[in-house]
Amino acid sequence: MGSEYHTSHIFFFPFLAPGHSIPMVDMAKLFASKGVKATIITTPLNEPCISKSIEKSKINGHNIHIKTIEFPSSQVCLPNQCENIDSIPSPETFTTFCKATKLLQEPLEKLLLEQNPDCVVSDLFLPWTYDSTVKFEIPRIVFNGCGFFSLCAVECMRLYEPLKNVFSDSETFVIPNLPGEIKMTRLQIPPFEILKEFEGMARLLREAKESELKSFGVIVNSFYELENVYADYYRKALGRKAWHIGPLFLCNKDIEEKANRGNSDSIDQHACLKWLDAKKPSSVVYLCFGSMANFSNTQLREIAMGLEATGKNFIWVVRRSKEDGDEWLPEGFEKNMEGKGVIIRGWSPQALILEHEATGAFVTHCGWNSILEGITARVPMVTWPVAAEQFYNEKLVNEVLKIGVPVGVKKWVGLEGDSVEWNKVEKAVKRIMEGEEADEMKNNIKVLSELSKRAVEEGGSSYSDLNVLIEELSLLRH
Ligand code: UDP
Repeated sequence: MGSEYHTSHIFFFPFLAPGHSIPMVDMAKLFASKGVKATIITTPLNEPCISKSIEKSKINGHNIHIKTIEFPSSQVCLPNQCENIDSIPSPETFTTFCKATKLLQEPLEKLLLEQNPDCVVSDLFLPWTYDSTVKFEIPRIVFNGCGFFSLCAVECMRLYEPLKNVFSDSETFVIPNLPGEIKMTRLQIPPFEILKEFEGMARLLREAKESELKSFGVIVNSFYELENVYADYYRKALGRKAWHIGPLFLCNKDIEEKANRGNSDSIDQHACLKWLDAKKPSSVVYLCFGSMANFSNTQLREIAMGLEATGKNFIWVVRRSKEDGDEWLPEGFEKNMEGKGVIIRGWSPQALILEHEATGAFVTHCGWNSILEGITARVPMVTWPVAAEQFYNEKLVNEVLKIGVPVGVKKWVGLEGDSVEWNKVEKAVKRIMEGEEADEMKNNIKVLSELSKRAVEEGGSSYSDLNVLIEELSLLRH
């Protein structure tokens, strides 16, 4: 495999957000490792981060490149330095940011004309890329960064509209036709179509769906053994063309590659790993809520109190900088926790922390990348969904896969998250780290971790599906 497809050239165009670009850069690396020419499209301020991530691929002689196009911040009145969703001034500017991405259409088309790739893999949040590919008669494949379970759940909600028959927030309903009798409440469903403040998001998702249905297919960052029932349902019952080629993260083979994904770390990696080296196996709880969730000071204090009450070692990633001060911490907290806990203000080397044998539990917001990383690293989870499709992911983790316990969040409120008291944090962390139930989950996740690794090895389900996709593309070309 490899040389026979040497001439294929694929554009990878991720949405400008860490949770979207990290897996898509992994994807570009994976294709490049198969002999495909991979070109990642991004903007100047996002380029250094991606460049660092593909350094090793380049050293290995893979045909992988970056092309930048100017981001029109000033044309839509965004601050100059704002080229990524993690740096928008407020959640309300999301729609403005998306408007700016639409202005990338012209420069993208210039690149398509100049480079004439055989395929464009672009993010769900860039639906207009479909129109560009049509102009140049190039197939477009969608990447939306989610797993099969949530893709199916969202689609069943859209097609069968169960909320029309739900009359209170607390009433549970079963997601119609979705295998597994998955019960939800109205409070857990993203209110994009209901609340005016989410109008822009609702429109974008409608456009995304329309363009997805017209595109050549969907790449899913998952592996068959993890969600086989839902992978089959997505293809057979919902009639979608999809290839599962994940976990994409596993294309990073050594520590250096794993460490170089995403933003720059806010902690010295070696010091962090040395701290973990001194801890007993499975004795540390790691808390991180992805790149976007941003809790209030009150919520952060509750987490701190909960952590102290567990008596466990911890590494806690908080979206605050030194300049923000320490108001959000109970007085003297860091001093009291010296040796017991580390707070990372900003960006953590998540993949390395999860893979360390001292890490025994992961308190997560249920972002899909984080879940996959937790699974491959065999770390059971406390689920704390916040936004996007995370409440669906929580169901998969706790009720289908049985590798986690809920912290008890009741309501989808967006990036600030629903509030959780300190004693719930304490209870959930102890539950996932102590006793028979915890052992069972550990065993369950161990099996999934093995399967995830096998899936990407020669002959594995993801390995094979990737080959199928590359072959289909090469046939299209001829
Ligand atoms: N991540 C990281 N360090 C951090 C925060 C996030 O390395 O401090 C990485 C994490 O490993 C994952 C991605 O950023 O690959 C976050 O994606 P996810 O889907 O979990 O959540 P999102 O940020 O999209 O909400």
